[in-house]
Amino acid sequence: MEIKNKSIWKQVEQKEYDAIMEYNENYKKFLDSARTERLATKEIIQQAKEKGYQSFEEALERGINAGDKIYYNYRNKSAVLMIIGEEELSKGTHIIGAHIDIPRLDLKPNPLYEDGEMALFKSHYYGGIKKYQWTTIPLALYGYVITKNGEEVEIAIGDKEEDPVFYITDLLAHLSKDQGQKKLATGIEGEQLNIVVGHSSYGIDEDENPIKKNILSYLNKHYGMVEEDFLVGEFQVVAATKARDVGFDRAMIAAVGHDDRVCSYAALKAILEVENPKHTAIALFVDKEEIGSVGNTSMNGMFFENMLAELIHRQDKNYSDLLLRRCLANSKVLSADVTVAHDPTYPDVLEKYNRCMAGHGIAIAKYTGSGGKYSCNDANAEFLAEVRNVFAENNIIWQTGELGKVDQGGGGTIAYILAKYGAEVVDAGTPVLSMHAPVELVSKADSYMTKEAYRAFYR
Ligand code: MN
Ligand code: MN
Repeated sequence: MEIKNKSIWKQVEQKEYDAIMEYNENYKKFLDSARTERLATKEIIQQAKEKGYQSFEEALERGINAGDKIYYNYRNKSAVLMIIGEEELSKGTHIIGAHIDIPRLDLKPNPLYEDGEMALFKSHYYGGIKKYQWTTIPLALYGYVITKNGEEVEIAIGDKEEDPVFYITDLLAHLSKDQGQKKLATGIEGEQLNIVVGHSSYGIDEDENPIKKNILSYLNKHYGMVEEDFLVGEFQVVAATKARDVGFDRAMIAAVGHDDRVCSYAALKAILEVENPKHTAIALFVDKEEIGSVGNTSMNGMFFENMLAELIHRQDKNYSDLLLRRCLANSKVLSADVTVAHDPTYPDVLEKYNRCMAGHGIAIAKYTGSGGKYSCNDANAEFLAEVRNVFAENNIIWQTGELGKVDQGGGGTIAYILAKYGAEVVDAGTPVLSMHAPVELVSKADSYMTKEAYRAFYR
């Protein structure tokens, strides 16, 4: 069996090469603005509004007609874009589901302390990280808090050239004899991810914790914050670097949060190109996938189901639970999440006949999971055949691959959650290198082809 499986770069003409480069310039801008799930939600809705999308609340009030473009903002942390199809909702929808949260460090509720002539933040990591990767790199801080006096405050420090950054120390090489004997996973422990946020006590006329007091007075002056506000706010720390081209040929991008903003951006651009679909087209951008799709803003929450119920109710005044169940069960879903790309430096974790290559296009994963396919959504042959045909008709360059060798590890996506309703679901996303590292790597060709594939799926 000969499988056509070669690099996109070898197959495109000048026009498409230019399109790839242009698409990725815009993708980098998206990455630089959508730094947290809140900022991603804002950016996605902003782009939708520019294309004439109206809010879910407005749509419910006005009534719902075929061709309507609607955005749904769920608690500023998840977003849904949809275009109402000619068919009624109970006939099913076409969904592309991505997530907008990323592995990162969150601040603990009581983060700020002073020790060793420095002020530091205690952090608690979020999602699956390799802790040693977070030391000795410049870090940026994002905060959202309703302060004690009721003000809504947003903090973003570290993005701009002139901003300060934050920093987690590591032991100097000279004195790392004991540390060097430890296993990689425990060489840096969670409680060592303490972030340096200050050092000066200049101008503070107090003996007890003057550096901490200095920081608090800065936060109060610039953001109206008091220490208690840390207890109730949300604070995230990620690598302080903009998305950058990689290589002499600028064919790859190193950036914070390709997982899963590369698929999120592709889903966004794809749905913004859709007009008057037969079946309702939906792009989902959910929070908290990285910690198990839990919480009210994630896929296991009820918000998406509730939203569909409201729409069906508006479309058909004889609303019944059955119509909602039919809508979900008749839906077709691409679970839009990244997968692993072969890394020539670490070839052993993948099996060479079933691995994805950077530059070979969007990756279909029939199943993910771990061990004996545990906890995975193993897509049905009928649906895969359908997806293959759609891709073939639209000249989509795609590949398949397993998430690692058998018994090497594994992972999951939101696929199984939508499958629970009876929908046909398969994982389809971009191959990534150094997944979950503070800065990840993707091929521009793959990021572009992911968007093309999603657009074809909506057709
Ligand atoms: Mn992901
Ligand atoms: Mn992930």
